[in-house]
Amino acid sequence: MIIDRQSGWLDVAEILPSPNYDDRLDENDISGIVIHNISLPPGQFGGGWITDLFLNRLDPNAHPYFAEIAHLKVSAHLLIRRDGLIQQFVPFHKRAWHAGVSCWEGRERCNDFTIGIELEGDDETAFTEVQYLQLAAVSRALLSSYPLLSEQRITGHEHIAPGRKTDPGPHFDWPRYKQLLQA
Ligand SMILES: [Zn+2]
Repeated sequence: MIIDRQSGWLDVAEILPSPNYDDRLDENDISGIVIHNISLPPGQFGGGWITDLFLNRLDPNAHPYFAEIAHLKVSAHLLIRRDGLIQQFVPFHKRAWHAGVSCWEGRERCNDFTIGIELEGDDETAFTEVQYLQLAAVSRALLSSYPLLSEQRITGHEHIAPGRKTDPGPHFDWPRYKQLLQA
């Protein structure tokens, strides 16, 4: 996988530009990766609803839960679906709106300096094999493209927003992921 640092897009990703982003305070300060999970409706996989949410086109009438969230302006840089498809919504040098109120090692507003990667999944279900492989591959591409990133600068949403967020959750296998990173 190759990242075009000029455009900020990943070569293998399906590009779906989201309006939900703005400028980083410092475009060169890309110094962390935040792993998430998301499913829409919660606990269901395979629909196009996550994409719709990030593109501000979620139909509030399609599911009772959607009425609660359709107004949200959120995004992530990447979504890795259950089948391994990678979608990219925001160029890496721009600020995606994925972490919300957050604090990482004393530094708040983690969206400023992180890349957000969503895995299609939830807190009750194992992630798929191909999701780990794709996540590891894209992580390696990011680490080799942005010099402030490192293996130590990868965390979960639950760790930077404890008490408020639980993702990627107990089924995300951190040792396995870290092992694949080195493969
Ligand atoms: Zn999250």
